[in-house]
Amino acid sequence: MFSSMTISQLRTLLRAREVSAEEVVISVFDQIDKVEGDIEAYVTLCRSEALVQAKRADALLKEGNAPDLCGIPIAIKDNISTAGLKTTCASRILDDYVPPFDATVVTKLKEAGVVIVGKTNLDEFALGSSTENSQFHVTRNPWDRSRVPGGSSGGSAAAVAAGEAIAALGSDTGGSIRQPAAFCGIVGLKPTYGLVSRYGLIPAAPSLDHVGPLTRDVRDAALVLQAIAGWDGKDPTSVQKELPNYEAVLSEDITGLVVGLPKELLDNELDPEAKEAIFGVANVLESLGARVEAISLPHAEYAMASFYLIASAEISSSLACFDGVRLGKRYGEAKDTTSMFMKTRGQLGIEAKRRILVGTAILQEDNYTTYFVKAQKVRTKIREDFQQAFGRCDVILSPTTPTPAFTLGHKLDRPVIMYKSDVYTSLANLAGIPALSVPCGYTEGGLPLGMQIMGKPFDEATVLKVGHLYEQQTASERRLPQKEVKANG
Ligand code: GLN
Repeated sequence: MFSSMTISQLRTLLRAREVSAEEVVISVFDQIDKVEGDIEAYVTLCRSEALVQAKRADALLKEGNAPDLCGIPIAIKDNISTAGLKTTCASRILDDYVPPFDATVVTKLKEAGVVIVGKTNLDEFALGSSTENSQFHVTRNPWDRSRVPGGSSGGSAAAVAAGEAIAALGSDTGGSIRQPAAFCGIVGLKPTYGLVSRYGLIPAAPSLDHVGPLTRDVRDAALVLQAIAGWDGKDPTSVQKELPNYEAVLSEDITGLVVGLPKELLDNELDPEAKEAIFGVANVLESLGARVEAISLPHAEYAMASFYLIASAEISSSLACFDGVRLGKRYGEAKDTTSMFMKTRGQLGIEAKRRILVGTAILQEDNYTTYFVKAQKVRTKIREDFQQAFGRCDVILSPTTPTPAFTLGHKLDRPVIMYKSDVYTSLANLAGIPALSVPCGYTEGGLPLGMQIMGKPFDEATVLKVGHLYEQQTASERRLPQKEVKANG
């Protein structure tokens, strides 16, 4: 079935004209018809537009000079702006918002020939780790529907895992691409800050936000990254860099490469099965010629505190404009301004309100130096830890998450426990470095586990190479959730 293939497999078939883009899109929508009722990965589906785009792709493929991702069905997280297509952030405040422009990543994907399947569910404004904070509906994990898909890019991860898209875009502020990728048994990449444009991504915490791919394998992550990376004059934090060919480097070997294993990220919070899986990965990498060394990231234990303080401060500022006057849907009568503001802002969900309150509080004069400035100092320390570590090693290996996917509702009213989902991932956002999550085994109960490979700034190539080689080496152990999706559905 085409809907369960990778981009690279489909690329070969499409170029050889053994399948048409239209057939691929139809196969994806057939799968959506079968499983979406249970999974609910999407906020919006664009079936008829997708068919039109597929026909266009077929015309290009026929001419023989089709761009790299021509005819590939891709899903987009619903906080990434799409011209003429609703972009809701899973919030009542934006539930009818239709952007007049495309995010740069969407423009680039369109130039690369993709077919947009739809917009995926998320925690409201990307605030959360389970997609349960969506104001529309929950999304279920394709491996076990009583469990969360992770978040905030849970819709994107579930769609790819369930065969409802070939690949997807997500955003990652503290782990929102990697954590759902790990929970759903797929690959997720958070690129270096500045490598992929954020123009058109509706911001949560701009100094921590990133856009990146969720895919079925590492090669596909390299292909999507190639398409979306690069300098963009519309994003002031975008960096001008010569891009390597990310797919070409995948075939290089890793003999002599040094893998750092930070002791702080193999701590007591870590699920024993997840810990064992990481030692298993280290063995595989050693057997491929890498050297594994114990390292230390001494300030890692303060990452969560620093992350949630900085993120909340920035979020309170980012969300201030959604007041029904400047931006966002107005609830209530404009005659009475105060009650109109209150009604409109009152539409925000509990987690968004919590972040706004915390953020506003810590930006008050008395708290600013005590909390915000201190959190920024810790952020600098964390960056320095990484600089030191990367003096000794080429990549750093850790689990992506402390536990596999948890059950729906389990952490919803315990925010601090929920926040701990990001304990290993938020480090890379604070430091701005690239980080890739790759499936690395299963729990006894059959849930996927993920490992995280972090790299030097702008060294996505090495990170992808290590992930790819591991994946090749363990390919025979890889399982798919699709069987279960079919069986249960
Ligand atoms: N889970 C983290 C949060 O709730 C990170 C979310 C994200 O990466 N967008 O802030």
